[in-house]
Amino acid sequence: MKDVANLFGCMVFNDTVMQARLPKDVYKALKKTMAQGTHLELDVANAVANAMKDWAVEKGATHFTHWFQPMTGITAEKHDSFIAPAGDGRIIMEFSGKELVRGEPDASSFPSGGLRATFEARGYTVWDITSYAFIKNDTLYIPTAFCSYSGEALDKKTPLLRSMQAINKQAIRILRLFGNTDVKCVITTVGPEQEYFLIDKTMYLRRPDLVYTGRTLFGARPPKGQEMDDHYFGSIKPRVSAFMHELEEELWKMGVHAKTKHNEVAPAQHELAPIFGTTNLATDHNQLTMEVMKSIANKHGLSCLLHEKPFAGVNGSGKHNNWSLSTDTGINLLEPGETPFENAQFLLFLTAVIKAVDEYQDLLRVSVASAGNDHRLGANEAPPAIISIFLGDELTEILEALETGVAYKGKQKNQMEIGVTVLPHFPKDITDRNRTSPFAFTGNKFEFRMPGSSFSIAGPNFVLNTAVAEVLRDFADTLEKTNDFKDTLAVLIKKTIREHKRIVFNGNNYAEAWVYEAEKRGLSNLKTTVEAMPAFIAQKSIDVFTRHHVFSETEIRSRYEILLENYCKTLRIEALTMTDMVKKEIIQACISYQHELSQLLQSKKTDGRYDCTLEEYFLDKISKLSACLLRKLDTLENAMLETKKTTDALSLAEFYRDHVFGAMSELRLIVDELETLVAKKHWPLPTYAEMLYSVN
Ligand code: ADP
Ligand code: MG
Repeated sequence: MKDVANLFGCMVFNDTVMQARLPKDVYKALKKTMAQGTHLELDVANAVANAMKDWAVEKGATHFTHWFQPMTGITAEKHDSFIAPAGDGRIIMEFSGKELVRGEPDASSFPSGGLRATFEARGYTVWDITSYAFIKNDTLYIPTAFCSYSGEALDKKTPLLRSMQAINKQAIRILRLFGNTDVKCVITTVGPEQEYFLIDKTMYLRRPDLVYTGRTLFGARPPKGQEMDDHYFGSIKPRVSAFMHELEEELWKMGVHAKTKHNEVAPAQHELAPIFGTTNLATDHNQLTMEVMKSIANKHGLSCLLHEKPFAGVNGSGKHNNWSLSTDTGINLLEPGETPFENAQFLLFLTAVIKAVDEYQDLLRVSVASAGNDHRLGANEAPPAIISIFLGDELTEILEALETGVAYKGKQKNQMEIGVTVLPHFPKDITDRNRTSPFAFTGNKFEFRMPGSSFSIAGPNFVLNTAVAEVLRDFADTLEKTNDFKDTLAVLIKKTIREHKRIVFNGNNYAEAWVYEAEKRGLSNLKTTVEAMPAFIAQKSIDVFTRHHVFSETEIRSRYEILLENYCKTLRIEALTMTDMVKKEIIQACISYQHELSQLLQSKKTDGRYDCTLEEYFLDKISKLSACLLRKLDTLENAMLETKKTTDALSLAEFYRDHVFGAMSELRLIVDELETLVAKKHWPLPTYAEMLYSVN
């Protein structure tokens, strides 16, 4: 038995370590900066750096790195060692406050969406003091934000931190109106559930599509998929179990609260859920989780697939972003309270989220848009591309009763009145029934189910935080002006319910009928990334982001370029991988099988045997399909040539979606058909069945 309590966080320079190792005044100054964002004096930074270095060296660390989250969606790091010459040919281990607080990686190789052209190529990283430093692979990791020299955000973390400040500011205004004076800050909390696939490493390496693009570009359906529902919550196979154990242990050491693990719906699919935490920490921890998953899988001869749709026809992977608002005094603002007054406050926050999601549906859709996630959203499994909120019947009825003033039929027979009524609690089992909803209220938090499994959760969260901050600002503006708080509050809540109830939908989101119903309600249905992206640079989006200082207009436009560029690059790599695999492997397989068949045919004919139906049948079919294959390959290659003619980012992305992707899908159909015909010994790629059932 492992001593988990002692293991947990042993590689983190956390509060306990700080308290034990920092001089009292330094500790106090650091805590003040952490809580209030005040300036960190150089002597304090020096003292912290020195203590951090001593601690890290004792734990075997030799290097440090500023760890940051550029727009690539993954993390970046540049390692420096602690060594400094001592003057006598020997070295000492050194780490200064300046090195801790600020780093200067060369920004020129990271996506900047034009910011680099207009501003300086250099960028710098700044210590995110609210996220603890930790040790991984003998290196001290310092979580940082990454900016251009002129201060533009070049990463995912900076806007997230800014959005947390924005929502804090507005939520505090609301709490003060409710007479709450002891709360100093409001944070957003997140618990991201991470889905992933595990397959055997040797098979992975034999699939260039998986290696280069993260998903299978070819593959006929296996005889057995997920139809038996026998994998979900099934017993965990020994090899997977060994992987999960080591993964948890590594994560615990680095202070990640890995809590729940289970098999998911698809064969070879699994999930890991942590205990929720502050959004920026949860984001760092989720990035870390994904990295560690990949490296531990490797150690176990496995490959961890984080792509949203590694296998066509099999459920894809998402990341459920459980989100709530909490005060520094530990109160969850989305938890119905014990008193009518608390409930009025709950209803205000609840309706604020409803309004925010309705008003900013398009931006939320943008926040989960990627080439990979396009295979999931709108397909017949994960949430659709239409955003709606699931509230559950009871809460929906309560809101209806509040809006109309009609008596609530539920447990409470009397008329509902804001600030007078005690609300029932909504246990998770009542509220969490609808698994098809993209945005579900689950008792005391919302679960945003659209983010893709490979995403950084920073994006979905800074959009959500900013949208809710904007609505809270609007509410606070109204409520601060009134002389009759209770009355204005009641009117405001009713009005919000009336104007935004169209976003509430408790039915089956996968049903065909919902698409029509949603259209009637005027809800957006942005099916692909390309359709969603323009909303990001719409005036409404620029207004809300700039008002709350989450982005400048320049930053938004640069991000828009980067996201579209990413989309095109992804499809380009997929198309090139596809043509390469067809030319180098698939055609070879067809030729060698045809060769074998025709030799057989020839020898039979020489022997004077006429039972050649089988050989002739397959030869004929394969040669016809091969001809078709060449035509489709040609179409794809021509489409790729055409891409060179377009320079505008959006038109290029549209071209990729309509022509390149279309040609890829047609080519795939032929290859998948060939896979079912060509003899196994000639087929170069591991099949779906082999991959999905490769781990025992
Ligand atoms: P399910 O699979 O039914 O959605 P899980 O228990 O697997 O539920 O995941 C729920 C997630 O929600 C966990 O990561 C949990 O820590 C998180 N969570 C619970 N309460 C909150 C909260 N107040 N804020 C944010 N996340 C929360
Ligand atoms: Mg969930």
